Amino acid sequence: MIDWSRVDTVLLDMDGTLLDLAFDNHFWLEALPGRVAERHRMDLPRARNHVLSLMRAVEGRLEWYCLDYWQRLLDVDMVALKGEFTHLIGFRPGAEAFLQALNRAGKRAVLVTNAHHGSLGLKLRHVPLAGYLDATYSSHDFGYSKEFPEFWDRVQQRDGFQPRRTVLLDDSHRVLAAARDWGVPQLCAIAQPDMGRPPLSQAPFPLIRDLAEVAPPVAEGVSD
Ligand SMILES: [Mg+2]
Repeated sequence: MIDWSRVDTVLLDMDGTLLDLAFDNHFWLEALPGRVAERHRMDLPRARNHVLSLMRAVEGRLEWYCLDYWQRLLDVDMVALKGEFTHLIGFRPGAEAFLQALNRAGKRAVLVTNAHHGSLGLKLRHVPLAGYLDATYSSHDFGYSKEFPEFWDRVQQRDGFQPRRTVLLDDSHRVLAAARDWGVPQLCAIAQPDMGRPPLSQAPFPLIRDLAEVAPPVAEGVSD
């Protein structure tokens, strides 16, 4: 699925790729509508519709991922609310073994995320992810989400990865399509971003079920 002889850098999405999307789905679909209902004295179905319609209006844009934007709009402390159920933050199956294999094989592991720094910081405090990474980039530092070619221009200039020797793993098909159109040739999607929901059986990109199954072989001459 991944031609490791042609890969130096692995661009890794965080939520739904390395980490279980169950946390984020619970936040956006349950916890946030619940808090909006309390705060603005709405019933829960109305609060849920309100949040979903606001989300649809900015879907895929940087605002969608911006906690400050939502805090202003809904008058809810987004980071504090996320902090109430950190027990749902965790690696997807095989993710940590995959990161260890990347490190052993001498491949660069680079996080590219649309997560806002408030959310990124919370996740990094609850899973031992940062130690495996050679670099971390949030779209909030570049002014464009990963759905836009400007993000890929800017992150490539900052990081210096060679697009032709790079693979991107991401659970968002829209992001994968944007990276493909920009010039990343190797792309993989994730079959089960949220481990509490059924897996996809097909997608426009090769689907990874368990990251450990596509890990690179250990490079000759590289020892632990
Ligand atoms: Mg994702």
